[in-house]
Amino acid sequence: KTFEELGLEHSIVTAIKELGFENPMTVQEKVIPVLLEDKENDVIALAQTGTGKTAAYGLPIIQKVNTKKSYTQYLILSPTRELCLQIADDLSDFAKYKSDVKIAAVFGGSSIERQIQLVRSGAHIISATPGRLIDLLKRKVVDLSKVNTIILDEADEMLNMGFRDDLEEILKSTTDNKNTLLFSATMSSEIRSIANKFMFEPVEITI
Ligand code: AMP
Repeated sequence: KTFEELGLEHSIVTAIKELGFENPMTVQEKVIPVLLEDKENDVIALAQTGTGKTAAYGLPIIQKVNTKKSYTQYLILSPTRELCLQIADDLSDFAKYKSDVKIAAVFGGSSIERQIQLVRSGAHIISATPGRLIDLLKRKVVDLSKVNTIILDEADEMLNMGFRDDLEEILKSTTDNKNTLLFSATMSSEIRSIANKFMFEPVEITI
């Protein structure tokens, strides 16, 4: 299938063609149509890094984000500063022809003041590491009450790095009618337990 056949609009397909994306990778073919559906589902996707998972969730997010609303609609959590920045960069590339989309990267080990400014200027999408996000939640800079989808990228790594309590706190600060998408290289009992606690009848996708 082509990206158009998966349901992506022209401006996004144009942007990714410029990045050299000719055809969808497997994870994209499986995940993009599910995320573009009106009836939104929770999803568990078992995918290794390097399989194209950032675009699998990133392209539908860029298509669906409503830039007429100034609040945060999508939150992506990842384990490291590098990945968090990479995700924010990739999403900006996907949004090249939808340039009113505001994306903020929130991660530790860097000036919190700049990140506060960026979030306060009205981020539609936040790419964050869990620790720094908790910090901004406590300072009431970030408001997750209207987030409609949370993506847990490399969920297994976040758990390995000891972010479980932070993840639970973040998930609890969002509404019950949001959707949760969990990406992990492996399935473990800890991942199962997060899924059982915070996800509703997730669709499981294995790459
Ligand atoms: P990821 O697993 O998201 O880190 O993606 C791995 C690499 O594949 C990144 O460098 C992407 O830019 C690239 N990529 C993602 N989707 C495609 C695609 N459909 N065609 C070509 N390259 C892609």
